[in-house]
Amino acid sequence: DGVTMMQEEEQEPYRRGMLFLLQDVSDIRRLERMRSEFVANVSHELKTPLAAVKGFAETLLGGGVTDEKTSRSFLQIIYDESERLNRLIGDILELSKIESKRIQMDYSPIHLSAFFDTISEMMRTVAEKKRISLELDVPEELFMEGDEDKLRQIFMNLLSNAISYTQEGGRVKLTAREKHNNGSADDLVEFVVKDSGIGIPKKDLPRIFERFYRVDKARSRGSGGTGLGLSIVKHLVDLHHGTIKVESELGIGSSFIIELPILQETHDTGS
Ligand code: ADP
Repeated sequence: DGVTMMQEEEQEPYRRGMLFLLQDVSDIRRLERMRSEFVANVSHELKTPLAAVKGFAETLLGGGVTDEKTSRSFLQIIYDESERLNRLIGDILELSKIESKRIQMDYSPIHLSAFFDTISEMMRTVAEKKRISLELDVPEELFMEGDEDKLRQIFMNLLSNAISYTQEGGRVKLTAREKHNNGSADDLVEFVVKDSGIGIPKKDLPRIFERFYRVDKARSRGSGGTGLGLSIVKHLVDLHHGTIKVESELGIGSSFIIELPILQETHDTGS
């Protein structure tokens, strides 16, 4: 009896080792599956606009289209789809750069009201085309530490989504405010990008930060979306040690809520 007991005890570390090994293998498998899903998605996403470019160019080259108006409309499709390919490739490269951690943070103090004035200037023409009012509510004295290019990317993405997914004549509002974390050193800035748009169905909410996830493929493609914007935003928020969440009601509108630390040094030292 004593002998078999000993043996079982001796076997235990090996058994545990086996379990770890299996765990590692399943992690690797999972990563591989995610990677090959990504490659499959990318190929699919690239093929659709490419097929349109090729098809319409072939038709025009075939010489069957004689009237000016039709041939111009085909050329417009070719142009739009090339633009779409361009955006897709840009987003895919951006995402792979962020995900492979080959990305450097370049922190500087940012004067938020000036920062958002510039951004809203850039978004204004797009908003005006849809008669959407673009409102800012940012305290004049609010500063934070952040990577300005990446923050711009975050808010340009959220605001352009808010405009895309809001009907003509709607409203988009960005608010920023300081949030004291019970008087600790980890004070935050809370940003809310709120729109009066089409909203997101409850069942889709948990998935909209996934790569290539779209609530309505046709509508998103019509608006020129790639389905990558929010997953890039999520990564950029993570890089700032922040959080993002979404609240939405179908037909009423959506709010994207971001919290970022006011200072980055407390996070980057010692980790
Ligand atoms: P896309 O390039 O398609 O806009 P995103 O990753 O930016 O991709 O967003 C993913 C999906 O989430 C969109 O296709 C859209 O269905 C939904 N979505 C994002 N922002 C909003 C919003 N403000 N209102 C309604 N739906 C939104």
